[in-house]
Amino acid sequence: MKWKQVLREMKPYKPGRSIEEVMETYNLTEVVKLASNENPYGCAKSVKEFLNSSTLRFEIYPDGNGGTLRKKLSEKYGVDEEAILFGNGSDETISIISRALLDKGSHAIMATPTFPQYAHNAKIEGAAISEIPLVDGQHDLPAFLEEITDQTAVIFVCNPNNPTGNLIPKKNLISFIEKVPEHILIVLDEAYIEFVTEPDYVDSISLLKRFPNILIMRTFSKAYGLASFRIGYAIGSPSVIEPLNKVRNPFNNNSLAITVAEKALEDEAFIDSCRLLNAEQRERFKQYAAQNSLNLFDSQTNFVLIEVPIDADEASEFLLEKGFIVRSGNALGTPHHVRITIGTEEQNNRLFSAFDQLLMEKGRK
Ligand SMILES: *Cc1c(COP(=O)(O)O)cnc(C)c1O
Repeated sequence: MKWKQVLREMKPYKPGRSIEEVMETYNLTEVVKLASNENPYGCAKSVKEFLNSSTLRFEIYPDGNGGTLRKKLSEKYGVDEEAILFGNGSDETISIISRALLDKGSHAIMATPTFPQYAHNAKIEGAAISEIPLVDGQHDLPAFLEEITDQTAVIFVCNPNNPTGNLIPKKNLISFIEKVPEHILIVLDEAYIEFVTEPDYVDSISLLKRFPNILIMRTFSKAYGLASFRIGYAIGSPSVIEPLNKVRNPFNNNSLAITVAEKALEDEAFIDSCRLLNAEQRERFKQYAAQNSLNLFDSQTNFVLIEVPIDADEASEFLLEKGFIVRSGNALGTPHHVRITIGTEEQNNRLFSAFDQLLMEKGRK
């Protein structure tokens, strides 16, 4: 068959190991998954109550327009309903953007390491990519500007960045957006925005009027605790959303996911409490790293990228045997570090004991 040439060098996404699989392999009775930045506090009570009592009609196609979720989000953010695009998770939004704007002959810019789906989708569309190395975990935005050519169609900015967790300071991001030509789409992936506590962040939605070439991606997968439902959305100028909507599959979100996301929006107090609890626990990781002289990137998210004294795959394996699934930095482009989702206080107590053992048994740097 005539597969796209580029697929030869590409690998499919490799999901992290499941709790069940690790329990069986290592004969453990309790395993904590801290590998995919899911919410350790679950999801809002309003969602659980709805799921116990749902009378949705399964034989009816979902509302291809996103139902009243669209209205609720437009009210929450003070944007037009036409300014919202739904994706089957932000993952799908990235593929919609790439399909709509990238092909052979076009060019996209992104950081490295960052969320891998930007480069992955751009390559499938045949586009050339420039991956700009982070500097101390931060996007090197001046270097992004230098990479812009006549072919550049999309710039992906992950803010805060995965896997480092760093937030781009407000003035750096705004001065960058000011310098990017208007015909280039700047995608701001804000998957972790609900966890940000640093006041020097960009309120990107308020920038939309001034910069119609930005597209803000958000998701219900992380802080809202609804990763399994696959629902994300983008907010942009209607003139950007309209062509993207032509690429979107007509019923890309199922009825249950749409309704559950609506319920989740009713409980903003849940998100506030997760932000607070997460920030407290994040501080503990900072202290732990400082006490043990381990490098830790300055995270504003619900995960941390922390240095380990041995090879990152070995360190992840060590923690796995103790019942903690984390992400090895080797696969993320950050060797000698592991990415750990910030768990609950109790989960972190146990994680720190396992980490103590790692440091004792495997020695320091
Ligand atoms: C988790 C994540 C996503 C994907 O979110 P979904 O809505 O679950 O597809 C997008 N971007 C970043 C940076 C992420 O970490």
